[in-house]
Amino acid sequence: MRAGTLRGVIALDGPSGTGKSTVARRLATALEAGYLDTGAMYRAVTLAVLRAGIDLADEAAITLAVAESRLGIGTDPANPGVLLDGEDVAVEIRGPEVTGSVSPVSAIADVRELLVAEQRRIIAATVEERGGIVVEGRDIGTTVAPDAEIKVYLTASEQARANRRYRQDNSSGRASSAEAALASVTDRDRIDSSRAVSPLRRAEDAVEVDTTELDARGVVAILLSLVDERGLVGSGTERGS
Ligand code: C5P
Repeated sequence: MRAGTLRGVIALDGPSGTGKSTVARRLATALEAGYLDTGAMYRAVTLAVLRAGIDLADEAAITLAVAESRLGIGTDPANPGVLLDGEDVAVEIRGPEVTGSVSPVSAIADVRELLVAEQRRIIAATVEERGGIVVEGRDIGTTVAPDAEIKVYLTASEQARANRRYRQDNSSGRASSAEAALASVTDRDRIDSSRAVSPLRRAEDAVEVDTTELDARGVVAILLSLVDERGLVGSGTERGS
């Protein structure tokens, strides 16, 4: 699917299991734009914290470990690699240990400050280079890129979100049960929505799309028409203009 070249930033937020990653990558591909998975950044620094054996209650030690970790995150939607201190950790950051600890680590204000600064730097560099970027996360429309050209907030019923997680876990060879997937999704959402700094919430000017009854293709089609309506696509030659 080729839809033209995106000019600007699309912020895609929502709780886990709403299909954000699949939709964001397909949208970025269709729009010849960059892609940034901010959840992968929080996951990678959480892995660094776990590897260092730091107590999850020790905020100062966690912040120091995050500041010292060398994070490499790709912006190519076809191959968005994640490196921690030069090592490819794309698979390990999706495992149960990281998934179980990422929300408490992400709730620490100093950790967010470090990662939000890095995210803004990557977004600016990618827009400069490619013309546009699709950024997915929890606080992109509210905090990271409040001036984004389009803000989208994906929702879905709790059961649909848990089912998606369960299917993903199974297809990636990670042992899981439907009950465990539901518990993990609700637990992370509770922490992500109730934290003091940049909690998960819909930006006032975000377009809300309920994905309960839609597949990724259907969601991408809705978002592509939105991008088109707002006049944010151009031919490659108009890039950066
Ligand atoms: O998107 P993903 O499920 O990989 O995100 C993992 C976790 O990272 C979330 O549950 C949340 O705690 C944190 N996160 C965040 N802010 C973002 C993206 C992710 O706090 N922008």
